[in-house]
Formats: sequence, structure tokens, C-alpha cells
Amino acid sequence: MGIEAEAAWMRRIARLWPSVQQTAGLAAAAMGAAFVEPAAIRAAFIVLFLIFFVRAWVSVRPQAMQTPVSTPAMPETTHETAAQEAEVFDADQQFRDLFQHAAIGIYRSSVDGEPIFANQAFVHMMGYASEAAWLEASANIETEWYVDPARRDTFVKDIADQGEVTNFVSQVRRHATGEIIWVSETARIIRDDCGDIKFYEGTIEDITDRIEAEDQLKIAKEEAERANRMKSEFLANMSHEIRTPMNGVMGMAELLTCTELNDQQTEYVETLMMSGEALLSVINDILDISKIDAGKFELACEAFNIGDIMEEVARLMAPRARAKDLELILRIAPNASLAAVGDGPRLRQIMLNLVGNAVKFTDAGTVIMDIETECRDDGVLHLSARVIDTGIGIPEESQSRIFEKFEQADTSSTRSYGGTGLGLAICQELITMMDGDISLQSVYEEGSTFAITASLKADLRADAATRTRDLAAESLELGRVLVVDDIGANRRLLKEHIEAWGGFAVSAESGHEALSALKIAKKKEQSFSLALIDYHMPAMDGLELAAAIKKDFPEHEFPVLMLTSIDDRFSDAVLEEAGIDKCLIKPIREAVLRASIADIMSTAKDSAPVAEDMAVEATSVEPLPAPKARRPQILAAEDNLVNQMVLKKMLTGAGVDLHIVDDGQKALEFVRDKGADLVLMDISMPRMDGIAATHAIRCYERETGCARSPIVGLSAHVMEEHVRKCRDVGMDDFIAKPVKRAAIFDAIERWTQASQPAAASAG
Ligand code: ADP
Repeated sequence: MGIEAEAAWMRRIARLWPSVQQTAGLAAAAMGAAFVEPAAIRAAFIVLFLIFFVRAWVSVRPQAMQTPVSTPAMPETTHETAAQEAEVFDADQQFRDLFQHAAIGIYRSSVDGEPIFANQAFVHMMGYASEAAWLEASANIETEWYVDPARRDTFVKDIADQGEVTNFVSQVRRHATGEIIWVSETARIIRDDCGDIKFYEGTIEDITDRIEAEDQLKIAKEEAERANRMKSEFLANMSHEIRTPMNGVMGMAELLTCTELNDQQTEYVETLMMSGEALLSVINDILDISKIDAGKFELACEAFNIGDIMEEVARLMAPRARAKDLELILRIAPNASLAAVGDGPRLRQIMLNLVGNAVKFTDAGTVIMDIETECRDDGVLHLSARVIDTGIGIPEESQSRIFEKFEQADTSSTRSYGGTGLGLAICQELITMMDGDISLQSVYEEGSTFAITASLKADLRADAATRTRDLAAESLELGRVLVVDDIGANRRLLKEHIEAWGGFAVSAESGHEALSALKIAKKKEQSFSLALIDYHMPAMDGLELAAAIKKDFPEHEFPVLMLTSIDDRFSDAVLEEAGIDKCLIKPIREAVLRASIADIMSTAKDSAPVAEDMAVEATSVEPLPAPKARRPQILAAEDNLVNQMVLKKMLTGAGVDLHIVDDGQKALEFVRDKGADLVLMDISMPRMDGIAATHAIRCYERETGCARSPIVGLSAHVMEEHVRKCRDVGMDDFIAKPVKRAAIFDAIERWTQASQPAAASAG
């Protein structure tokens, strides 16, 4: 039997077969649903549709075989059979309607791709008005349909392997017009009794619009990504372009502060420097945000000490806090593990932002940095840091908003605090990258507490002594110590230190309370081993208290250590007069405090009171190495004339010999001919840039086996990839422009093993 004839035969027996009614109903329901959501129920429809045919085939074929197709046996014409036939006819009609009007194309083809039948949606998709027109055009699915004939092969293979294909997407030709469209096909095999493939049948959906929309989206996404990349590059370039002249402005301003200036000039220069710093921090914030947006932000993984970072933040913020008469207190929990591996500079950035905000938004009271760590068995160092202020607070409704980019609690045009509103957004991103979180508790007009956590790695290479502040183990055998400070947080901090060093603290809130405590102790014949007194106290300041102790208790043997701020400098004579053995600058660094206490307690018995140089005391813990006899030879490769001048002036009188060349080629020649103890290498230079010059110098050193000159890159490019490039090519260090004199001095000290260069004069 021909395929066409068999299809016609099946149509006829379906009409005669009452039991198909139920199956047809099911199929009809599926097709109805197909109008609603063709893609989702396509598979269900096919299954039902095919069940219908298979059941028709299996059940009726034997009976049909006995009955010639041309003269079907008509049942007896009774009332009952006529009604049944009418019912079947109705069902058949409904089924045909559903089939014909389904929104999705339905077809059957021979294995060779010859079309057998299809519904309207299918033939319309092929560009024909009717099934007959399509059949007449005798389109062959195999040879004429697929744009890429290999797709047909894949289709045949997949359907043979799996018995079906689902959502098989290909480009096909609209047969009547040749137009190319995208279709998604779901089909299955129909086999005969012997298991041989008879037909393919399935559904086809025109997805051209969807594919085109997806293409458009892809293009739009690529364009957006390209624009974002360009924005980042633009910002990086802008940052470089702004930093380069800023180097001149800030370098010169810094040098000016070292010259003789009258009060007005000093104020102008300080304003100049402050504005420069503010501008730089805005540039840095914008650069960070653009890197975060571009997904280019990466954290470094280096060993650092959490305590050093926190002390540095406190030291950097101290001048601002002092200018507002705020007490800035750093507390690091005793026994905290501090040797970590992670991104120290980014942790510093987070803390600088939080402490900077706390100082900015607090007009009176204290800002406390409270640091704790917990070293877990799995090597994770869990850091919790809180920054607590007594400032303006943040209204509840603004508390979540301020972590968004460019958001500030006060959105009015008359707000009294400047800022970009980027700091907290950056902090949050950084903290998230450190597997931590940031939270806020704040009461409006009372103060705020920002708390962060971060998961770092414990630095297992650092030995236990440096890893842990095991202060109790290093007891100073302090005995009873009198602690006098009007600020509770300071008293608590000093008490904690004293107890950790094996002492016992007796705290007093004021000079008068301290004097009473001494009187009581005298009565009870108790002695003190040390007095730690604050200078800034209401009613009776530290100097007055020391003088009162000297007067009222002339027999006392304990040394007196006063804590003061950098603005309150006292001459040796004044300190000696008051009976003060040593003066330390706040914020107090734990190591400095400890060393100072050990020092004055050991010399207390035999020495007359000595006032130390406060500035040196506050910053230098370890003794500097002895100066070298030979002056370090510093080579600077820098093409910009202003920057050359800045470097020259910064290093004038610093005990080093500075040689300047203006391109990388000359730097290479200099190193080859004369050698250098340190090369300060600008990156962007004409002829040969800093990267190429460093590469050439390193090659030369390798080939000749001569000593390696330390090279420190100087660049206004501060993106990580630039810094990485510098390190990769063999530079030892990197200083971002605008350069600070202190950074250059640090580099000289570090890389030439010379002592800190002598303070340069600006002459
Ligand atoms: P910026 O300070 O540059 O405006 P931030 O993102 O660091 O940006 O802070 C966003 C806003 O959050 C600030 O403008 C301020 O309104 C509020 N804020 C942050 N820290 C404090 C704080 N310690 N006290 C009060 N308000 C704060």
C-alpha cells in the first residue's frame, strides 16, 4: 500500500471506529492547550496525538485488512448506529478543527523527507496557502528544507539514536519564498510492526523572532561590556592624567611646608595640601568603583600584620581627630592573632574610610577602634573590627541606603558634610570579597557603630611569638599602676594593657580622684610602681596633677608617664619641673607604650627625670640601623621637569646623591656604567619606558652577574595590572604618584639599608 493510500485509509477507519472518540478527546484537549502555550505542552500533545494513531493502527488494522478499502462494510442501518456515527463524525470534526487550527506546525513525513500531511500552521510557515499547494510543490524536507544539509543528517542520527528529538533548532527555507527562518522542532519516530521506521512526525515552531531578539540582546550586551571596558580605561587614563600634575602640586606644597612661612602662608599651604588629598581620595574612589563595576577588582594575598595596619590608621587619623578635639582610641584585644595573609592595603582602606567617617561626623566625644581576632583550627583568621563614635548618628530610614553608591544620609542641598557617597559602597564590596560583612547600629544624634568582619588566613609562617600578642607571657611585673584619664574608654584600654603585662590598675577619672587614691594608699601603706596620666583633663590637667603629686607626696618613688597629643609639646624643662619622666603621643601604640614603661621603670631608681623627644618617641620603636659611611647613590629616571624638581628638592640634604636621567635608555646606560644603590623609575617615559628599561637592566644583570640594583617604580597609573606589570618585569617596589617625601624616604631606607635620610631642607 502506498503511503498516501495508507493515510487515507487510516482517516476512513478512524471515522468508523467509535472507541477512538475518547482518544481524540484527549488529543483535542492537548491541542487546545497548545494554543495557550505551545512550547510547554508540545511534547504532551505529540504523545497523545501519536497514541491516537497507534491505537487506531493496532486495534483496527486486522478488521480493516478483511475489509476492502474501496467497499467498506457498512453496519446495519439502525437508529443506534446512526447516532453513534453522528457522534464519531462530530468528534472527528472537532479533532480536525483542532489539528488544522493549532498555532504550532504539525507534520508527518516519510523517512526520506517526503511530506505526508501537515496542518495549516505548518504549511503557512512553509509559505503556502493550503496543504494541497504545499504537497503539490512536492517540497522535500531532506533536500530542500534545511539551510545546512548537515543539520538534516544530525536530525536523522539523533532521532534514530534516541527515538525522538526535542527542541531541535535549525535554519530552514520557507519553501515557497526561499526566505530563511529559524525553527525549533520536536519529533519522534513511528515504527511499523516489524520495528522499521515508517514516518517522522512532530511539531515545528517558528522561532525567528526569538532568535533575532536574542541576537540583538547579545549584541547589546557586548556593546555594553565594551562601553564599560572603555569607561574603565578612560577612568584609568584620566586618573593617570590627573595624578601627574597633582604630583607637582602636592610635592611642591609639601616642600613649601618645610620652608620658613608665616602663619598665613602656613594656613594657605595646609589648605592646598588638604584639598589635594581630598581630590586624590575622590579620584581613588571613582577608580575603585569603576573597577568594581567592570568586575576587575582583585584582592592581593600577602602577609601583613593587622596590628600594624590598625595602628597606622589610628596614626593617620589622629591629626584630624585632634583638630576636632576628639579622642581617638585604638583597642586591640590582648592575645589577638595578628599575623595574617590577605589584602592589608584594602583592609587599611576600609578602616580609613570608617574611621574617617566617624571623625567627620562626630563633633565631640570619642572615636573607638575596637579590634578582635579569632584564629580557627582550619587556619582561617576571623577579624572583627568595630568603629564606634559619639557623632550625629544616622536616622533609621537612611541606614540601609547609605551602603548604596552615591548615597548619603543627608540628601539636602544644604548638607554640612562633603563626600561622594562612595566610601561605604566600596567598603561593602571589599568586605564581601573578604568573605565578611558590614553592619551598622546607630541612634540618631547619639552615635554610630560600624562593625565589619573578614575572613583572612592566619600567617602560619610567622612564628608564634609574632603571630600572637601573648602579652601575659611577657610580664613586666608592673605591680600597682595608677591610671588617670577622664575618658572611660582610655582608662579601660590602659587597664587592659597593664593587666596583660602582669600589673594591677587603680583607675581615677580626674586629678583630684587620683590624689585621693594616693592618699588612701599612703594610709594603707600601699605603694604604686607607676603612674600613667593623661594631659587633657578638665579641672586639673596632667601637668598640674604631676606637680601636685610631686608636692603632696615628695617621698614617692614611682615614675610618671604622661600621655598627650602632638599639639601639646612641652620642653624638657617643663616636664622635669612637673616631675614627669616621659611623655608619649596619642594614639598610643602598644609596643611603644610597653617599651617606654619598661624603660622608665628600669631607670627610675637612678635617673633624673628626662623628657624624650616626643615626635621620635611616637614613631620609632626599633632602633634605626647605623648610617652607612658612603652616601647612597640614587638614580631617578623621570622625564617630567616639574617632577624632576620635586624629587630633587625632596632629597636635598637627605644624605643621598641623586642622579636624574629623563628616559629609560639613559637609566640603563647609567646602571651599566656606574651602578646605583636604588633606581626610582618612572613608568611612562619617551624612547624607552620604565618597564622596558627595567627589563633591560635585569637582563644585563643576569648576563654579567653584577649586583642587582633595587628598582622602585613611580607611576600615576595605580590600577593593579600596572602594579603587577612592574613587579612582573622585576621591580622591587612601587610608589603611586603623587609621591610623598615619606614614601621616598621609606624606599631609600628599605632598599639601600641606609638609615632614614636626614630630614631634607627645602632649600
Ligand atoms: P561619604 O562619606 O563620602 O559621603 P560614605 O559612603 O562613606 O560616603 O558614607 C555615606 C553616608 O553615610 C555619609 O554621607 C553619611 O551620611 C553617612 N555616614 C557614614 N558614616 C557615618 C557616621 N559614622 N556617622 C554618621 N553618618 C555616617
